[in-house]
Amino acid sequence: MNDSLSSIGMAVRDRRVSAVELARRALESVRSDEPRLKAYLQVFDDEAIRQAQAVDERIACGEGDSLPLAGVPVAIKDNICLSWGRTTCASRMLEQYESPFTATAAQKLIDAGAIIVGKTNLDEFAMGSSTENSAFGPSRNPWDPSRVPGGSSGGSAATVAARGVPLALGSDTGGSIRQPAGLCGIVGIKPTYGRISRYGLVAFASSLDQIGTLTATVEDAALALEVICGPDPLDSTSANHTVERFSHDLDRPVTGLVIGVPRQASNTANHPGVARAFEEAVKTYQKLGARIVEIDLPMTDYGIAAYYIVAPAEASSNLARFDGIRYGHRARIGAGEGLLELYNRSRAEGFCPEVKRRIMLGTHVLSSGYYDAYYNTALKVRRKIKADYDAAFIAEGCHAILMPAAPGPAFRIGEKVDDPLAMYLEDLYTVGVNLAGLPGITVPGGFAQIDGTRLPVGMQLVGPAWSEGQLLRIARMFEHECPHGAERPKPAAV
Ligand code: GLN
Repeated sequence: MNDSLSSIGMAVRDRRVSAVELARRALESVRSDEPRLKAYLQVFDDEAIRQAQAVDERIACGEGDSLPLAGVPVAIKDNICLSWGRTTCASRMLEQYESPFTATAAQKLIDAGAIIVGKTNLDEFAMGSSTENSAFGPSRNPWDPSRVPGGSSGGSAATVAARGVPLALGSDTGGSIRQPAGLCGIVGIKPTYGRISRYGLVAFASSLDQIGTLTATVEDAALALEVICGPDPLDSTSANHTVERFSHDLDRPVTGLVIGVPRQASNTANHPGVARAFEEAVKTYQKLGARIVEIDLPMTDYGIAAYYIVAPAEASSNLARFDGIRYGHRARIGAGEGLLELYNRSRAEGFCPEVKRRIMLGTHVLSSGYYDAYYNTALKVRRKIKADYDAAFIAEGCHAILMPAAPGPAFRIGEKVDDPLAMYLEDLYTVGVNLAGLPGITVPGGFAQIDGTRLPVGMQLVGPAWSEGQLLRIARMFEHECPHGAERPKPAAV
């Protein structure tokens, strides 16, 4: 499906095509890509058609005007609850879990006329950068199926890049929307913390988690955000901030644009293809009339260290509920064994090694005697990271900060999975943005050549809190000048 969200919505509202017809086409396309991509954990053949019929009926009853996303097929990351199907978080722990409710963000999509075609694969409980931590096997990158699509929202990124659906929801705690968007050559946005309700998102690290979108274009991201942003009485951390009509003046360039280029973004860890794309992106903004200022984000170097204390600390607490009694997989215990064995074995059987590593790390940094040395120190670093960004926006007057989305393009399945530190380095340019609570967007930034394969590279723009409208316009200026995202991965050779 190559059409924009707004043109799909218009065609369905004008009854040039039915939502049912679009749902059928999307299901077919998703099904035919599945053997190669393994992007989905569930595909909702019947439910999607039922939803599409309901949309067609609402349009027949004259309700079209309230359906900006009429007939738009969407995919939902499987850590976001729906009141049908299962919400597994790609974990054995929740393999059988059926949520009694639907997440607010997903409900808003449905209310706007979207059709949910399935739940996408992720790293277990959204912990990882490749989807290889999924208990149900990795997803694959449409540009080269021997490579990862990134993670943790890898299934969402893969299906949007392959044009199975034009919109997918993801979640981003430390880069899980922006990194896979970069590795798959699409647009991914993590809004300001509090912009989108987290109600119904299975918590990983609650002070960092944010739902966002994966789409083919900036325009689609703008329209989707208009629908899903906004305060929600069911999530007290959702902010009471006006939701602008992001898509309305998207094509109006930002005048007097100042782009900050952090010294730290030219890290030696960057793949040459990423370094080149980054230089090109700076030149592009220069050509567009922006003033480029070199900035310093000195705390960037400590971002990963702080994140891998704060996120596991929160995760160890959030995941305590999965004990086989309150939630999740319940192990069998023998006669004479008690509650402790039940807890131990349920958690031992239910969680993958990476999730266990995070729980142990988190428990350790919160334990008495270590709390100050690790957790409190990490919180201080977090505040300093935020101060670095504030200085760039306020003192230097930057409208946005430009840096790569990740240090390298898609890596091979198996390449980093046994080396947690190498995997954590994927998050170099993304975690600071979550720690500071800021909005960040990845746009297709060009290509890198590796072993004869052309692989996409993502560029990231980070803006001040609540500046999504401006950030989308800055991203749109780039996309318009360098339409790298228009190039699609080749369909599978048969
Ligand atoms: N890659 C990071 C991690 O493993 C980020 C994950 C995320 O944003 N959910 O924690």
